[in-house]
Amino acid sequence: MKVTIIGYGMAGARVAAEIRARTDATITVFGAEPHRAYNRILLSGLLAGKTREDDLTLVEPHHGLDLRLGTEVGAIDTARRTVNGEEYDALVLATGSRALLPPVENLVTEDGTPPEGVSVFRTLDDCRRILKDATGAGTALVLGGGLLGLEAARGLAARGLRVTVVHAAGHLMERQLDPAAGAVLTGTLERLGITVVVDALAVARTDGGLRLEDGTELTADLLVVACGVRPETTLAARAGLDVNRGVVVDDHLRTSDPHIYAIGDCAEHRGTVYGLVAPAWEQAAVVAAQLAGETAHYAGSRLVTRLKAAGIDLAAMGAMDGGEVVSYTDPARGTYARLVIDDDRLAGAIMLGDNPTVGQVVQLFDRGTPVPPDRRALLLGRALGGDAVPAESPALMPDAAVVCRCNDVTKGAIVRCGARTVTGIAAATRATTGCGGCADAVAGIPDWLSTVDPVPADLGAAS
Ligand SMILES: Cc1cc2nc3c(=O)[nH]c(=O)nc-3n(C[C@H](O)[C@H](O)[C@H](O)COP(=O)(O)OP(=O)(O)OC[C@H]3O[C@@H](n4cnc5c(N)ncnc54)[C@H](O)[C@@H]3O)c2cc1C
Repeated sequence: MKVTIIGYGMAGARVAAEIRARTDATITVFGAEPHRAYNRILLSGLLAGKTREDDLTLVEPHHGLDLRLGTEVGAIDTARRTVNGEEYDALVLATGSRALLPPVENLVTEDGTPPEGVSVFRTLDDCRRILKDATGAGTALVLGGGLLGLEAARGLAARGLRVTVVHAAGHLMERQLDPAAGAVLTGTLERLGITVVVDALAVARTDGGLRLEDGTELTADLLVVACGVRPETTLAARAGLDVNRGVVVDDHLRTSDPHIYAIGDCAEHRGTVYGLVAPAWEQAAVVAAQLAGETAHYAGSRLVTRLKAAGIDLAAMGAMDGGEVVSYTDPARGTYARLVIDDDRLAGAIMLGDNPTVGQVVQLFDRGTPVPPDRRALLLGRALGGDAVPAESPALMPDAAVVCRCNDVTKGAIVRCGARTVTGIAAATRATTGCGGCADAVAGIPDWLSTVDPVPADLGAAS
């Protein structure tokens, strides 16, 4: 069987490795970027100086793949089933998303790319460009107060730049946060030295920065544009596949052409384009299983968005409104919690700042189990006059609790994998190899296991 994959990013690399592990297919991968696939999520850490380029290496092996790096595919011949004249039996589109450039005067040059001193934040090359511009700079403007904009702002602030975030909506991260959470988040950023301007529509890039609709001129040494992403569907549309916001796929992740699958940021499943890595990797496994002759389907994912920025703890999930809403705000401490409960189940939550119950909240959301009758236990981490909500200790975590969300690894899987070091656990289960946010939780499990079920020193060292 000949399998061709177009797009060598986080989804493309994973699907290639999964197919390689399960079949003896010949696998050709086309990647427009000149580098091997890398962990795009960790670019935020690279910008902040917490991660080195070497740390971006993905765990997926690349041996046995026919890699065509720096090769952007321009067309698919669906009738002949060929890409660049080479035949395929199955084709996987994993073309990801591209950064959006908003309609701001002078923001792009004639060839559609940003001019000197302006960067988007999507690829390793973008990140290198921002870091180059930031060298010796004193101030930065970040256009866009969504997740990526705030991660970029925090990263540049950590490098000593004075950063202003310019956001068009009335509050930050309006897709994940309600206005009250947005206000608390603004306070937190301002305490970290970042200026936030909301309700601010940029209309033009000027020599020194940005002009807003109300005539305000903002100046800075560099400008980072983080105004969202759009699924990269150009090739699919050109090939005549059904394209809506993303490339439309069914529960088998098949496009309107039965020989072509689409996964990751470019795919739209049941009306949703996820734009996060956990669904992309789940979808990669489903496609690989089918190509190996197994029955598999994808039923959708429940998403938890986390901001990865030093000094800001934020997790947001599910609906922002619903039947019963309980919330708690402490702006001075930068804390906000909001639970949306429907039918005694958690339909959504926002946990910002120091919230000791965030782990339990995520588990309740994931598993759809009933919330405690006294909501304060979940909101505040304790029930007044009642039992405390258990802390996030591995001993108290149910086996089915998902510890690594990017790779969908449960506590039970970690316990059963036999490894007793974080490196060993990562090799056996892939836990910690996505956004890395679960590293402390994963590390806690072998520590706990060593107290309840010690292993011989030589086995512990080997794993
Ligand atoms: C800074 C940053 C932080 C992020 N943080 C998180 C996070 O904390 N958690 C999370 O879940 N997600 C996060 N994401 C999103 C996550 O990176 C994406 O969901 C993930 O990369 C999707 O993988 P993908 O393979 O679908 O797309 P991509 O990783 O974008 O890869 C697509 C690849 O296809 C290539 N391509 C496109 N068209 C063609 C063509 N015609 N021919 C050949 N190659 C082509 C592109 O060049 C690219 O290399 C973050 C993203 C960024 C940029």
